[in-house]
Amino acid sequence: MAMIAKRLGYSVVLLERGKHPRVVIGESSTPLANLLLEDLCRRYNLPAVAPLAKWGSWQRSYQQIGCGLKRGFTFYHHRLDEPDDRNAPYENQLLVAASPHDEIADTHWFRADFDSFLVEQARELGVAYLDEVKFDQVACRETGATLSGARNGTELSIDAKFLIDATGPRGLLHHALGLAESPLPHYPATQALYSHFSGVTRPARTGANETAPYPPEDAAVHHVFDDGWAWVLRFNNGITSAGVAATDELASHLRLDEGANAWHRLLGRIPSLRDQFASADAIQPFRHMPRLSFMSSRVVGERWALLPSAAGFVDPLLSNGFPLTLLGIERLSQILESGLDSPCLESALKEYERRTRDELLATSRLIAALYANMSNFRLFKALCLLYFAAASYSESARRLGKPHLASSFLLHDHPQFGLHGSELVERAMHVSQGAGAAQLIGDILKAIEPIDVAGLSRPNARSWYPVDATDLLESCSKLESTPEEIESLLQRCGFHQPQQHA
Ligand SMILES: Cc1cc2nc3c(=O)[nH]c(=O)nc-3n(C[C@H](O)[C@H](O)[C@H](O)COP(=O)(O)OP(=O)(O)OC[C@H]3O[C@@H](n4cnc5c(N)ncnc54)[C@H](O)[C@@H]3O)c2cc1C
Repeated sequence: MAMIAKRLGYSVVLLERGKHPRVVIGESSTPLANLLLEDLCRRYNLPAVAPLAKWGSWQRSYQQIGCGLKRGFTFYHHRLDEPDDRNAPYENQLLVAASPHDEIADTHWFRADFDSFLVEQARELGVAYLDEVKFDQVACRETGATLSGARNGTELSIDAKFLIDATGPRGLLHHALGLAESPLPHYPATQALYSHFSGVTRPARTGANETAPYPPEDAAVHHVFDDGWAWVLRFNNGITSAGVAATDELASHLRLDEGANAWHRLLGRIPSLRDQFASADAIQPFRHMPRLSFMSSRVVGERWALLPSAAGFVDPLLSNGFPLTLLGIERLSQILESGLDSPCLESALKEYERRTRDELLATSRLIAALYANMSNFRLFKALCLLYFAAASYSESARRLGKPHLASSFLLHDHPQFGLHGSELVERAMHVSQGAGAAQLIGDILKAIEPIDVAGLSRPNARSWYPVDATDLLESCSKLESTPEEIESLLQRCGFHQPQQHA
């Protein structure tokens, strides 16, 4: 955001409470996040950042920045304390590929390296950067904001015409302006516990997974069980990020606030995870988050705005923190492009607030339904398809230069799919096992068909969804495009496997 504002001609100061490199969580990208990053780099002339939007270009340009290969989303279902059911391997997994090969694959961002690199780039562009700042007061007026505090024991005061808060949930403005929290309706109270590890082994690719659409560990791996789930994200520097998110009920059962002991208790209840972590060591202190979700009652003021990442957060289950934040950066950039003296500033900020909140609410409705159905994995998988169908449609529409077809995250305000999707998610909050669930799964597959460009609505006994160009070509009319337009898109975005050079 700071780099874009600088490119737009503003005088920019970037303020950080800590010091880079610093460890933060939130690592796994998605096709939509990478596409947004790519678009922003093109539009605002940020060529040094652009290679980070794909595994292949990242590896060629910046091998020193830690990165993980993410070919897709892997989900495994477990019953705590029970061995995995090897007789029904496909029942208990869902593999959704996000890319056809490694070159254009998504990534996990090793944030200590990644964020330091972004800050260095910002400084090179001329953004003033001050770290170890501590602000006690923020005064917002009609014409700007003043931050008062200290840096290294010296008083510091900064006047700005506009203040963008990128300090995460319950961050700077939340405290300084005493902003209230908004409840996320029907969302369960959840907690998280996580760390970074060395020595995590890679399970052998045998039996059921030998012919999977991508190596299942080169992905965001989700281990789902009643009332919670654990993530495993592997980086190329020997470090693995892993953690657990759980409802308050399970979290208190596992005593997540006890950190390492709780993590080992969880591993003890999932044999395949326990094996993977048998020789692992935590290389960061465990961090317990007693409350994971958050939404601010306000997102903008006269001369300030929260980035979506400061306005709210739901859960890492669908890796949607980055795409939501990048959508917000895209919108705020357009507001800055129009100028801070524009007569439309106030209404543009209000619209930004509306969209940010609506997208958070739509995300929280879907993730609440996923939490409600973690014990019913068939329905859980079908609900995930609502997300993957909307995400792949949005990505394709944007790549075709038709963003109007998919203007909202999860297509929540799409004229047909939006309403229908919300009704299905609402039903999923109340349906129990049995006939009602089977009917709902059928209805979900029917609902996604009109926007399905990735073969997700076809019956699929294995729950493996590879990326196949034919699916996109056959869906061209759904994207108001010709087969030629789709073929040219496939060429442009490097869909076809690149030639191997000696
Ligand atoms: C457990 C968990 C897992 C997640 N996993 C994913 C994922 O896999 N994929 C995904 O897309 N998203 C994920 N997210 C969301 C993701 O973390 C955020 O979207 C992302 O970190 C936002 O990046 P950011 O740099 O804007 O904010 P942050 O990473 O929150 O960084 C905020 C910065 O502001 C600084 N700061 C804080 N307070 C102040 C202050 N008062 N003054 C000055 N500086 C301050 C901090 O030191 C920090 O450097 C996850 C979130 C959580 C909690």
